[in-house]
Amino acid sequence: MYPFHPNCLCSIMPAEERNSSVKTDNILKKLLFGGKDKEDSDNNELRLSKKYIDDLMKGIDLKTATPDDIIKLGKAFNYRYNMSDNIGNKEKLKEMFANHREMGGVVPNNRWAKGSNKAIRKQLEEAFSYYPKDWADTLNGSGRQMLARKHPKRGFFSEGAAKASGREYDVKYDNYLDGYLTIVSTGVRKTTPYHEIGHMVEFFNKNLVRIEKEWVDQRTKDEKPTRLLDIFPNLPYGPYEVVKKDNFIDPYIGKYYDDAAEVFIMGIQRTL
Ligand SMILES: [Zn+2]
Repeated sequence: MYPFHPNCLCSIMPAEERNSSVKTDNILKKLLFGGKDKEDSDNNELRLSKKYIDDLMKGIDLKTATPDDIIKLGKAFNYRYNMSDNIGNKEKLKEMFANHREMGGVVPNNRWAKGSNKAIRKQLEEAFSYYPKDWADTLNGSGRQMLARKHPKRGFFSEGAAKASGREYDVKYDNYLDGYLTIVSTGVRKTTPYHEIGHMVEFFNKNLVRIEKEWVDQRTKDEKPTRLLDIFPNLPYGPYEVVKKDNFIDPYIGKYYDDAAEVFIMGIQRTL
């Protein structure tokens, strides 16, 4: 049985740690926030206002939103706050987002499953504290507990109570399928908890996944898939793990699954 994300080998993901070279940062700025275009120079005053962003946010209905709606919002944020110059500064980014959305999630004791690994739980708690409050609240209100586990080599998110190997559910937990979510991390890579919480957000929000996939499809319309094995011959990818690599700053961005993707998360991760 391999019930969950068999493909998300997040902890061995290449280039996971941010590369801070100027060239990468410039490409990154473009990816996350778009380049300057004509629209940017129109209505400068309006676009600099807090209200402009608030109105955009209010206008987005995730059920019907397109990638362009999200990109427009990202650009507006960057226009007002120059976020792309604060990449790597979690405190500062949190402060900027806090102007528009309540930040800082807390997952109370009774939402952590018995048997959770203390160190991994601590890392996840830290990550939740930098993310929107809603994200922790979604878990808190879901009726599920989070099982935090450690594995020397990999990280993943799974529905249900999973063993750290990722190969089977941990049936010693009652209601192991519907009562739990599992995040496994190595404890070494600090970005993995942030990454896997992103998959949790996707789990609760399928519209987010739809938007991610639409964006990858738009960007890679005429491209044939490439095997990850051919891009990273030294990493243990299976022969059927493919991406459409486009000119993404990380080919992993072009990877998606039936019910999850990597775009949104890789975007976040590059800002850490
Ligand atoms: Zn992933």
